[in-house]
Amino acid sequence: MTKVPELFAKNVFNDEKMRQRIPEDAYLAFRASIENGTPLDINAANIVADAMKDWATEQGCTHYTHWFQPMTGITAEKHDSFLTPAGDGRVIMEFSGKELIKGEPDASSFPNGGIRATFEARGYTTWDPTSYAFIKDNTLCIPTAFMSYTGDVLDKKTPLLRSMDRINHEAVRMLHLFGKTDVTRVDVTVGPEQEYFLIDKELYDRRKDLKYTGRTLFGCRSPKGQQLDDHYFGAIKKRVKDFMTELDEELWKLGIYAKTEHNEVAPAQHELAPIFTNVNIAADHNQLTMELMKRLAMKHGMVCLLHEKPFKGVNGSGKHNNWSLSTNTGENLFKPGKHPEDNLQFLLFMTAVIKAVDDYQDLLRLSVATAGNDHRLGGDEAPPAIISMFIGDDLEAVIEAIINRADYESQGKVLMDTGAESLPVIRKDTTDRNRTSPFAFTGNKFEFRSLGSALNISCPNIMLNTIVADTLAGFADELEKEDNFNAACRRLIRKNLMEHRRIIFNGDGYTEGWIEEAKQRGLLNLKSTPEALAHYDDKKNIDLFERNHIFSRREVEARQEILLENYIKIINLEALTMLDMARKDILPSVSAFTGKTCATIERKRAVSPDIKADAELKLVTKLSNLLSEFSDRIDTLEEEVYAAVEHADSIHDLARFTCDHIFVAMEALRETADAMEMCTSSKFWPYPSYGELLFSVQ
Ligand code: ADP
Ligand code: MG
Repeated sequence: MTKVPELFAKNVFNDEKMRQRIPEDAYLAFRASIENGTPLDINAANIVADAMKDWATEQGCTHYTHWFQPMTGITAEKHDSFLTPAGDGRVIMEFSGKELIKGEPDASSFPNGGIRATFEARGYTTWDPTSYAFIKDNTLCIPTAFMSYTGDVLDKKTPLLRSMDRINHEAVRMLHLFGKTDVTRVDVTVGPEQEYFLIDKELYDRRKDLKYTGRTLFGCRSPKGQQLDDHYFGAIKKRVKDFMTELDEELWKLGIYAKTEHNEVAPAQHELAPIFTNVNIAADHNQLTMELMKRLAMKHGMVCLLHEKPFKGVNGSGKHNNWSLSTNTGENLFKPGKHPEDNLQFLLFMTAVIKAVDDYQDLLRLSVATAGNDHRLGGDEAPPAIISMFIGDDLEAVIEAIINRADYESQGKVLMDTGAESLPVIRKDTTDRNRTSPFAFTGNKFEFRSLGSALNISCPNIMLNTIVADTLAGFADELEKEDNFNAACRRLIRKNLMEHRRIIFNGDGYTEGWIEEAKQRGLLNLKSTPEALAHYDDKKNIDLFERNHIFSRREVEARQEILLENYIKIINLEALTMLDMARKDILPSVSAFTGKTCATIERKRAVSPDIKADAELKLVTKLSNLLSEFSDRIDTLEEEVYAAVEHADSIHDLARFTCDHIFVAMEALRETADAMEMCTSSKFWPYPSYGELLFSVQ
């Protein structure tokens, strides 16, 4: 294997390569346009494009593509070749600044929530020079934003970039009030930890549910599950290890800082954590990581499942979004320092996050709402659907002291003595990791844990950036009017902590008691996707987005519609897949098995009426009863699927009906099927079992 430093960013047209390949004038014009957010003039753009093409063709590229993130949830690309006729029957490889900056893909097949009239199918992609171009499959990929001909945003990158500008502006403004006038830029840093499952490709191919929907729609527990917790951080199996090695290499080539990989709690589940970077790049990198995981798994005879809940009764997969702010002078704004109680700047930024999370619980919740993630939130493995914030006992004590105007006495860090002399005494981290909290302060960053594994991280980060920027703006408006900054700052912090302390919860989020207490505190508990998404266009939210120039009302409504539509389509597809499996495979198989058992009973009786056949009789009776219930439940599910058309007038109604009726009928059908699987001979059961799926990769 090539050495890592040589491999790293081999396939990325990064700053270093630009400096080498672009004449200084053009390079400086390019840098200035990024820093000032001004468009690059066409001459410089032509030079950059040409250098990019030369580098790409040297690496064997023949094509380029504008790579973008429409509302489908995955990335899209339209390939064009560099080939240009030279007039004399020959061709030359060409790539102009115009082609680099702007593309015009047909937008008609991308979700648009009614924004793009069908007569105007054009959409525009525009180059995002802040995320480096890279090579994938002999194609030069240029990260771009995507919008409609009318200028409405149709993608996930544009609002993310807008929200970064907003928080940059407001955080810098606030730091200047603190006298830090050398700060000219504040970046959002994000490190998303990605969970996934790996299963054997041959077994996957035998399951229609996995192939069509990404999750198992039927399947009873295997005798061995995760009860021994022996998978977590356990030794990594050979096939998985080989996959991870290749994945790391490919990610490094793309300049993605894949850092730690380990097994997760569930069998066959794993995690990859990258080193954090600027949120725009982190979002692009996470999309690429997911794509590569899927592709490389295939190469190793496996399938990578990114679904949030592939197996019932087994932990699902999430994505932890580690979020922080850092200045161009190298300061992490959420580093509490040794004495957070005296660190006014830290306390102010912390208070802004507390207020923002409390005021916009609904936006954070809906930014992670998908059909797949509904299986996790509220189960006892992932954070609850109630948004609350964990800040640790130390900070809570600081906050209590501020509210009560009392002196804060630091407990200091508790030393943990392992008792073995050869081991060092380590400090106990007082921001102990409460795994049940959806939004936890973990020392110098916040970890938003409610994201599902398949999610594009842009949406939650758009929300986080926007709500914190807006809160900081409100704070700065107040503080700018005051003469005594420090005193005013203290007052503002105290007032807001008193108003928003209800969002802080350091206890166990999995208990019934918390659900009741959260209700008392007036916190939202939006259990399902339709319930959460209904809040997208609440007046306070539209006002927020418009005030911060993130989305127009039209764009919010379009997004809401796209997400609801997506939810409905996914559940509908699952329901149809279930009906197909139930009728064509499960029912006939169970019927065949009972038939065979009946034949055995008859044969036994033919030999002698004295031979016992009660085991078979009991089995046949039980399965026949279940089978008749199963058949009824198939009919019920089918009726509900048909009944959905009556709700087609309102997308909200349809989503609620899908959740309250179709999904409920699916769960009922599954329950009977799983009970039958428990007592049907595995020779007859038409699909690989959970045991096989979860434990076959060695
Ligand atoms: P763990 O939480 O698993 O103990 P770390 O705290 O080291 O591990 O990091 C977890 C994730 O948080 C990593 O992806 C890391 O890059 C990211 N992270 C660490 N510091 C920051 C930061 N300042 N901003 C954003 N993400 C960060
Ligand atoms: Mg984790």
